[in-house]
Amino acid sequence: MITLLPTSDSSADATRARWQRFVAQRETLTAAMHLDVCDGCDDCGGRCTAGILVTRDEQEAVQTYLATLAPSAVRRVLGQNKTVPWPGAEESGATVDLCRFRDTENHNCFVYPARPTVCRLMGQTTWLPCPIEAVPEYPESAPAVWNEYRRFERKTWEEWERKS
Ligand code: SF4
Ligand code: SF4
Repeated sequence: MITLLPTSDSSADATRARWQRFVAQRETLTAAMHLDVCDGCDDCGGRCTAGILVTRDEQEAVQTYLATLAPSAVRRVLGQNKTVPWPGAEESGATVDLCRFRDTENHNCFVYPARPTVCRLMGQTTWLPCPIEAVPEYPESAPAVWNEYRRFERKTWEEWERKS
């Protein structure tokens, strides 16, 4: 169930309808993105850090997706050490904690089809720009979509689990 931050229009049905409208808005935005240049690229994977905020619906979507995968594959990825050398500064000794769904062996997102909104915008907006400047332009509607998204309650994967 999606939870919207308190407003005068916060019934469960209204919140559900608002989420569905948001997902449609996000799909329109996605269609306007230059995702073709991302095919086979993982140069922004270092941004997959621990602590990203997701909605309840996104957390549930990932759980549903994981249930379709081989349990051994899920165990492999969730069992990986997610503390890795800081990308681009490996010699410094600095480390970073990655998202639990970052596959550090295959260097990709293990839940890509069900990834949350912030991950879909990664590299495709002015505030999360492509680090190698391969994306030729960013959709003008991205800020409006992001600001609508921010109205929904968001927590880390771990926080949602604690509340379940
Ligand atoms: S946004 Fe840029 S760095 Fe990220 S996958 Fe696309 S082309 Fe690669
Ligand atoms: S869900 Fe996937 S794309 Fe998003 S931060 Fe985690 S590994 Fe990266």
